[in-house]
Amino acid sequence: MKTKRPVRGKSRAINPRSSKLRARKPLIGKLVIFGVGLIGGSFALAMKQRGAVGQVIGVGRSRANLLTARRLGVIDEIATDPAQALRDADLVLLAVPLGQTKAVLAQIAPHLAPHTVVTDAGSTKRDVIEAARRQLGATFTRFVPAHPIAGTEKSGAQAAFAELFEQRNLIVTPQPETSARAVKLVTAAWKLAGMRILTMSALEHDRIFSLVSHLPHLLSFTAVGNIAGYPDVAELFQHTGGGFRDLTRIAGSSPEMWRDICLANRDAILAALDGYLSDLEAVRGMVEASDGPALEGKFAAARNARARWLKPL
Ligand code: NAD
Repeated sequence: MKTKRPVRGKSRAINPRSSKLRARKPLIGKLVIFGVGLIGGSFALAMKQRGAVGQVIGVGRSRANLLTARRLGVIDEIATDPAQALRDADLVLLAVPLGQTKAVLAQIAPHLAPHTVVTDAGSTKRDVIEAARRQLGATFTRFVPAHPIAGTEKSGAQAAFAELFEQRNLIVTPQPETSARAVKLVTAAWKLAGMRILTMSALEHDRIFSLVSHLPHLLSFTAVGNIAGYPDVAELFQHTGGGFRDLTRIAGSSPEMWRDICLANRDAILAALDGYLSDLEAVRGMVEASDGPALEGKFAAARNARARWLKPL
């Protein structure tokens, strides 16, 4: 996805009277965000910009990042004690790398108020749901699994901007026991951030995103890593052009985040890789056989599919 120009919470002039999006009473009185990075920070800014939140508390792993978040007006307060942070919270958003989800859920579970709704932004859903079911016990009914399909290759609070989610999809994967009130609060918040809401099963989500997001990221990281392994790497990079840049922008993404996605969605990613590798093997065969018509046919089919299906953002 293309990086939009960052507009931070307090620096953007919004006329509360003229903005149709501004809520009269904040939708969320107290919002607690675990992981104030690109996604958590942008959600906080979007809620602030729409007047949808009273207070935003940030909990994080990096003190420096939390200080940046507070200085930029992304959060109002930094919390070091989860119990205190969660007191009277209306909504808790988990926006941490997937490998941290289980530990954060275990940390928050004993301190959740009876009305608190919990949601997440994780890029995979089956593993998050399984962890939430185990860690949250009875509170699992107030956990809304969600994935905003928006992002950039940048990380941390300084990368956050309020418009990140505008006109993008939010995938929600509620479970049979998920409370309708919890879903209503979470989807209302993301709608205010500008998102369209789509519901699907966690299994379908993980299969689809293994193909359209996880696989392309692996290809991008590997394309850079492969070139970087040649002894004349400096010279090779000197000659890269727009094509290489386009293919590899997302190789600037967080290695920790992508490690965790690979581990969390292992089976779906393996299936996607197998499909891709056999296709690549077929292309290799066409090159080896100098089969011009086959190569042209293959490329034309891909170009036509792209023109037909890939809608502008
Ligand atoms: P990020 O690196 O910008 O932010 C993650 C933040 O979590 C960091 O500030 C980090 O310090 C903090 N953190 C790490 N461990 C923590 C812990 N144990 N407790 C509290 N804070 C902790 O990453 P991001 O891009 O905002 O991604 C966050 C989540 O959103 C991930 O699960 C990712 O899969 C998902 N997601 C990312 C994108 C994207 O394009 N970046 C898009 C959709 C969903």
